[in-house]
Amino acid sequence: MNNQMNKHILVRVGEIFLKGKNKNFFETLLFRNIKSALKGTEQTVRRERNRFIVCDFSEEDLDNILTNLGKVFGVHSFSVCHVCESNYESINALAQTLVPFDKKTFRVNSNRSDKRFPMNSMELSRELGGDILNAHSHLSVDLHNPDFILFVDVGTEFSYIYSDKIMGMGGMPVGTAGHGLLLLSGGIDSPVAAVLASKRGLELSAIHFHSYPYTSEQAKQKVIDLAKIISPYTGSFKLYIVSTTKLQEAFNKHCESSYAITLLRRAMMRLSEELAFKIKAECIINGESLGQVASQTIQSIGATNSVVNTLPVIRPLICFDKSEIIELAKKFDTYETSILPFEDCCTAFLPSSPVTRPKNEKSEKEEKRIPNYDDLLKEALETVEIVKI
Ligand code: ATP
Ligand code: MG
Repeated sequence: MNNQMNKHILVRVGEIFLKGKNKNFFETLLFRNIKSALKGTEQTVRRERNRFIVCDFSEEDLDNILTNLGKVFGVHSFSVCHVCESNYESINALAQTLVPFDKKTFRVNSNRSDKRFPMNSMELSRELGGDILNAHSHLSVDLHNPDFILFVDVGTEFSYIYSDKIMGMGGMPVGTAGHGLLLLSGGIDSPVAAVLASKRGLELSAIHFHSYPYTSEQAKQKVIDLAKIISPYTGSFKLYIVSTTKLQEAFNKHCESSYAITLLRRAMMRLSEELAFKIKAECIINGESLGQVASQTIQSIGATNSVVNTLPVIRPLICFDKSEIIELAKKFDTYETSILPFEDCCTAFLPSSPVTRPKNEKSEKEEKRIPNYDDLLKEALETVEIVKI
C-alpha cells in the first residue's frame, strides 16, 4: 500500500468560501488556479464538495506538486493521503501499515463525507483505534495530546488516511477580487507587493518602465525573470513594457533637476492609469513604503497620487519595514533576482539632490515647461511591448 500511485492529495479550501452565494464562483476560480499552478506536472485535479483531490501523479512529481500547491491563494491546507476502498476491512488494513514505530500515543479522527457508510464517525474512530491498539502493543490512546493523529476521511469511492497537514497560503483565490495593474520595477518591493495583492484575490497585469538605451537589456530581462518567479502565486499575466526615455530626456532638458524623479513618478502614474483604463484594470498597485527613500515621503506619495484621476491606488507595503519586506522577498524567492545590480530608469538621470517634499503646484509648473508634454505621454504608451508571463 506504500506505492506512490495509491496516494492522493486532499486540498482544503479556506472556510469563508464554503458559505454564501459566492461559493461556486470562488471554487470555480480556485479549481482553475490549482490546475494552472500544477501545469508542468502530470496529474488529475478533481473537484469535490468543499475540497479538491489531486491524483494520478508519479512519485517524482510529488514534491513539485506540493511546492506549487503551497503557492495557490485560497488553499487552506493540504495532506498527502493513502487511499483505499471505502469499507472497514480496507481502512483497517491500510491504517495498520501507517502506524509509526517511534510514537507512543495516538488518536483516530474520522470524518464521513459519505453518510451511507455503515458506521458513524465516532464508531469508526473507536473501532479502528481498538484494532490498532490490539496490533501495536507499544501504543496507547491519548485523546487530548497524542503524539500523532490518524485522520480517516471516508468518501463514496475512496477513503483517505493521513496524519500530516501542510498549511497553504490562505488568502482569496486570484481573480475573486477583480483586476489590478501593478507597477513592477526590478527592485525588492514591487514583486512582494504583487504577491500580497494576489493574496487578496486580485488578478494582475503589470507595467514596467525602462529608459533604454540609458537602461540595459539585462535590466529588462531581470524584470521578466521576476515576473516569472511570482507567477505561481499570481497566475499567468501580461507584462506591458513601456519606454520613458523621451519623457526623461524632456525633464532633463526643460525642468529643474531636483524634480526629475517626482516628474517621472507622476508620468508613470499617468501612463499606468491610462493603460489600466484600456485593459479594464480596476486599480493600480505599487510597492511604495512610507519613508523608505526620498521619493517615498508622504508628500512625494501625494505628488504622484494626485495625478491619478479615478482609480484606487493600492500600496500593500506602505507600513512595512524594509527588513519585513526582505523577509517576504526571500520567502517568495524574488530576493536573489531583485538584488542583481542592474540600473532602473529612476537612476538614469538621477538628480544630485532630489526634492523630498515636492509641491503639486511646482510639479505642474515644471510639467508646463515641456512644450509637448501630452504628446510625449501618448507616444510613451505607443512604445508598449507585451510579454506574456
Ligand atoms: P522597488 O523595490 O519596488 O523598486 P523601491 O524601494 O526601489 O521599490 P521606488 O524606486 O521609490 O522604491 O519605487 C516605488 C514603486 O514605484 C515601486 O515599488 C514600483 O511599484 C514603482 N516603480 C518604480 N520604478 C518603476 C519602474 N521602472 N517600472 C515600474 N514601476 C516602477
Ligand atoms: Mg526601485
